Amino acid sequence: MAFEGLSERLQQTIQKIKGKGKVTEQDVKEMTREVRLALLEADVNFKVVKDFIKRIKERAVGQEVMESLTPGQQVIKVVKEELTALMGGEQSKIAVADRPPTVIMMVGLQGAGKTTTTGKLANLLRKKYNRNPMLVAADVYRPAAINQLQTLGKQLNMPVFSLGTEANPVDIAAKAVEEAKREHNDYVIVDTAGRLHVDNDLMDELQQIKASVNPDEIFLVVDAMTGQDAVNVAESFNDQLDLTGVVLTKLDGDTRGGAALSIKAVTDKPIKFAGMGEKLDELEDFHPERMASRILG
Ligand code: GDP
Repeated sequence: MAFEGLSERLQQTIQKIKGKGKVTEQDVKEMTREVRLALLEADVNFKVVKDFIKRIKERAVGQEVMESLTPGQQVIKVVKEELTALMGGEQSKIAVADRPPTVIMMVGLQGAGKTTTTGKLANLLRKKYNRNPMLVAADVYRPAAINQLQTLGKQLNMPVFSLGTEANPVDIAAKAVEEAKREHNDYVIVDTAGRLHVDNDLMDELQQIKASVNPDEIFLVVDAMTGQDAVNVAESFNDQLDLTGVVLTKLDGDTRGGAALSIKAVTDKPIKFAGMGEKLDELEDFHPERMASRILG
């Protein structure tokens, strides 16, 4: 699982301060220094770390006294609350359109896990929310992507809308929405093309699809293993498309994960789901508070 290194270091730091009946400014200083190093080592963006530490210092020093907690525990509470806020605070729910279908566009770089996540999300929507999704193959540049989605559709026993590789992705998306209305599919999840790098053609096409189907959600699928690059990718997709959320994939890997933690702070878009493995049922709602508890132990 990602964040293991971070988790271990933060837990060590916390252990030192936990039992303290009195927390001096020096204690806070030492603790924040260690937290800072742990975050940087986990590859959290340095600007994000700087703000984070500043907030903890302010809060931990001029702290409100709570009788039920020791001063040490109070400092830990501050760290936990700030870590939760860093990852987005409240859990962010998936959109539901006033009039179905709810349209979701999946965007991201090739290999991030977009197609797999399209299938996983459809599966989650059906299992957890009792929805009836349609998948849309709008990545016409890689025939393998269409086949991959069709295979997922078969495994899930869900419809996959495709017009092959000759059609225009903007048309495909628009026609899929019409088809979903006729067939009473309440969610339409559009798997769009990715590229190895962010480029203008990719963004143009995504903007055209967005303009054509007016999606309720635009999810950027980000590979948590890609480090600081993930932050840059998220920034450019967000600038161009005004994302509504992020799906982090491959959090089951032994990545440092910190870059992923920076995405919310940098884009101000919530992390909505986390991919925890290759299987179709390995996508979870992302709960900032639970994740913070998991990290802090
Ligand atoms: P796309 O090019 O963005 O559509 O990426 P794919 O959906 O084809 O996924 C690329 C690879 O990442 C595949 O081998 C997936 O099985 C794998 N993958 C996707 N999500 C996860 C995840 O959460 N955990 C792990 N371990 N692998 C994943």
